[in-house]
Amino acid sequence: MTTIFDKSEEGKKGTTFKEESLSELTPEEGLDDGLLRSDELELPEVSKPELIRHYTELSKKNYGVDDGLYPLGSCTMKHNPKSMEDMAKDSRFQNHHPLASEDLVQGNLELMYELGEMLKSISGMAGITLQPAAGAHGELTGMLMIRKYHDDNGELDRRREILLPDSSHGTNPASAAVAGFNAVEVKSNEEGTVDLEQLKSAVGESTAGIMLTVPNTLGIFETDIVEIAKIVHDAGGLCYFDGANLNAFLGRVRPGDIGMDITHFNLHKTFSTPHGGGGPGAGPVAVKQKLVSYLPVPTVEKSEDGYEFDYDKSRSIGKVNSFSGPYGVMVKAYSYIKALGDEGLREVSGNAVLNANYLKEKLKDTYEVAYQGLCKHEFVLSGSGVGEGVKTVDIAKRLLDYGYHPPTVYFPLIVKEALMVEPTETETREALDEFAEAMNSIAEEASENPDLLHESPKTTPVGRLDETKAAREPVLRWRKEGKK
Ligand SMILES: *Cc1c(COP(=O)(O)O)cnc(C)c1O
Repeated sequence: MTTIFDKSEEGKKGTTFKEESLSELTPEEGLDDGLLRSDELELPEVSKPELIRHYTELSKKNYGVDDGLYPLGSCTMKHNPKSMEDMAKDSRFQNHHPLASEDLVQGNLELMYELGEMLKSISGMAGITLQPAAGAHGELTGMLMIRKYHDDNGELDRRREILLPDSSHGTNPASAAVAGFNAVEVKSNEEGTVDLEQLKSAVGESTAGIMLTVPNTLGIFETDIVEIAKIVHDAGGLCYFDGANLNAFLGRVRPGDIGMDITHFNLHKTFSTPHGGGGPGAGPVAVKQKLVSYLPVPTVEKSEDGYEFDYDKSRSIGKVNSFSGPYGVMVKAYSYIKALGDEGLREVSGNAVLNANYLKEKLKDTYEVAYQGLCKHEFVLSGSGVGEGVKTVDIAKRLLDYGYHPPTVYFPLIVKEALMVEPTETETREALDEFAEAMNSIAEEASENPDLLHESPKTTPVGRLDETKAAREPVLRWRKEGKK
């Protein structure tokens, strides 16, 4: 692959019309010499068309939701309306300074307050923070609140354990550990849900709480969740509900109504922020009344005089993000909820579950389905058994040749050769049919010509990579020969 530096030739340049600058200052003026670069940067010199063609060519090597179906399980890689991006880009949202005084940003605060109210009502909770920047960050925020809660009750010394079903999301045990708890695994039963007997034997004096991914990573709803909550509460623990995959039950089930104390949302999965490229996300955390005073400060409240930041939380765990958190993401979520309304939000979960079950039915005769029965927004297949020596990684790589981003592979860990598929609510029946056809012809190829799969992908910019090397020794930066 050629880099822009390879195309560089001394003296080539493009034309840019000079904008009248508001300020007479050049960027360097007013800066100490010590802060300025001493030698010229060696930038590539190319013509304007060469520049544009170079980056257009690179962009075509990428794959995104706008190219095709992106069935990455647990990630909700769905279509997000472009109009929500326009909302977030509106200068009246974008150009406000985060330190502007409250009276100058009443509209911005109102949006935060209203978004919080809507998310509270969606989850059945009493208080909320919009600060966390991601799902895992929300989990950590929740774990820190659980920690402080037990500390205030003088029980933290003995309550050191967070119970985690073996079907929970990978970030859950990590968040519990980062907050200083010991993660204790609870096994699933034959149906793929929490085994109540296992839970009863794991719960006790040392239990700080439980973290439940719902639906779990098998795409199955925890049908005994009310009973689970009772068992944990009776032992003095708190219940954390990982609501990252809210598209599975939006408008139908509220964590607060089924005994859960804390939940986080992934605004960048459910509520119209595209993700996957490392862009900004948001993981607001909502809590029951007994935990409201533990929320990070400030929260946004409404008073007689308008909207304001409230720092008055007696037991707050403190701030968990700079300023107000990821504001643009909040604008998109607010716009999306308002645009869809109650009925629209319910339709989201209806379509997510319908699409997943439809696709599962189309694949179940060729691939082994890990857990039978109705699934929610996603399901897990096993890639073993479709062809001599063919593994899940071969199927995933072959899918690239068919023009698809593969599903999540080798997760959850409790399924051998797992392929975790989430079609999302925004795909049409035709798109699902085409994907099923691709998957089924790959299974046919696997039995007739397994080597074809072992050697794939053939049509991508690069072939099969050494993934261990790519993960352990990534080369993330290009350096000119001879330069450090
Ligand atoms: C995506 C996801 C998370 C983590 O969210 P991030 O924003 O990636 O940190 C946590 N739990 C579940 C169930 C998820 O699907």
